[in-house]
Amino acid sequence: MYQIAKEKLPELFRKITQTQELYLPVEACGQVNYAPWSEDAKVDLDTLKTVKSAKDAFFPQSENLYTCYRDGKKISITPEALQEQPFVVFGMKSCDLRGVEVLDKVFLADPVDTFYAARRAHGTIVAMACHEPEDSCFCKAFGIDCANPKADVAIWMTGEALYWKAQSGKGEALTELVKDLLAEAADGEEKVDAEKARIHKIAEALPYMQLSLDGWGKDVLEEKFNSPLWEKLYRPCLACGTCTFVCPTCQCYDIKDYDTGHGIQRYRCWDSCMYSDFTMMAHGNNRTSQMQRFRQRFMHKLVYFPANNDGIFSCTGCGRCVEKCPQSLNIVKVIKAFAAQGGKTNE
Ligand code: SF4
Ligand code: SF4
Repeated sequence: MYQIAKEKLPELFRKITQTQELYLPVEACGQVNYAPWSEDAKVDLDTLKTVKSAKDAFFPQSENLYTCYRDGKKISITPEALQEQPFVVFGMKSCDLRGVEVLDKVFLADPVDTFYAARRAHGTIVAMACHEPEDSCFCKAFGIDCANPKADVAIWMTGEALYWKAQSGKGEALTELVKDLLAEAADGEEKVDAEKARIHKIAEALPYMQLSLDGWGKDVLEEKFNSPLWEKLYRPCLACGTCTFVCPTCQCYDIKDYDTGHGIQRYRCWDSCMYSDFTMMAHGNNRTSQMQRFRQRFMHKLVYFPANNDGIFSCTGCGRCVEKCPQSLNIVKVIKAFAAQGGKTNE
C-alpha cells in the first residue's frame, strides 16, 4: 500500500501522461465527465458521479470503423486503426467497473469486437472508492461494494492523502512508473479499513441500497413480459433516450455512413432502444409502440441479460437514470412497482 498527498496529484497526472493518455473526471460547462488530462483541465475527483459513465473510454460514443475512397472507378477501403497505445482511466467507481464487466460479456464474446478488445487490452483502470455515496445509489442490490473497487489499482481518498493499492499486473506496472511520487504507507491498511467502514455506514443508510431483486432474473420471462404493469409504467416516457446514454451498461449502437464527397466514412455511434427507429429494418420495426420499447429496456437489464450471462444483471445501481430522467422514470421505480404487486401479473 502506498500513499500520495492530494497536492501532488498534478505531478502524478503529468508523470502518467509522459508515456500514455490519461482520462479522468474533468469539469467543463458545469458538468463533470471523463476527458483527457491536460495542464489546464479542471480535474474534479470530488463529484461522485460523472454525468456519463466511464464507458466511453472503451466504447466511445462515436468511432470510425473504416473509410472507402473512390477515385474514378477505383475503390479502396482503409480500416480504422485499433487503439493499441496504452492509456489510463483514473477515478472510476465500483458501479462503472461492473458496467465494464457487462460490456466485456457482450463485446468480448464470439465474435469478438476488435475495437473494444484493443481498448480493454491497452487500458489500465485506477478505480476510486466512493467517498460519499448518494441517495440515488443502489449498487449493493447488485452485490457491488462501493468502498472496495476491484480494478488494476484501487485508491481511497482520505483527508489530504490518497491511498494506492495495485491489484493486477497492469496495476503493478503503473505503480512502478509513478513510484518515485508514491510513499510507502505504513498505516495504510488501517486508514483504508477505517475509510471503508465510514463509506459502508453511509451506504447502508441510503434509501435504495436495500432494494430487493427478488422476482427478477432468468426464470420469469413470460410472467414479467406479459404483465399489464408495463402499460401503466411507460406512459410518462418521452423516448428521449437520456437513460440509455448515461447508463454504464447500455451497449446498443447504430452503424452509419457519412458521404465525404469522394467516398464513405463508416462509423458507429451509440443508439437507444427507446427510439422508434432503433433497429429499423426494411419491413419496419420489431417493436411498434413506446410501451414495447420501454419494456424492452428493463426486461433486457433484469431478465434477458441474466438469463444469458450466468445471472448477472445488466444494471449496476449507479443511479444515473434515477437522477437524469426528465420524467422521473427509472429502474428503481420499475422494480418497486412489480414488488408492490407481490410478483403477480394482474393488478
Ligand atoms: S430518460 Fe426517462 S423519459 Fe427519457 S427515454 Fe429514458 S425513461 Fe423515457
Ligand atoms: S439502469 Fe440506471 S441505475 Fe442501472 S446501470 Fe443503467 S443508469 Fe445506472
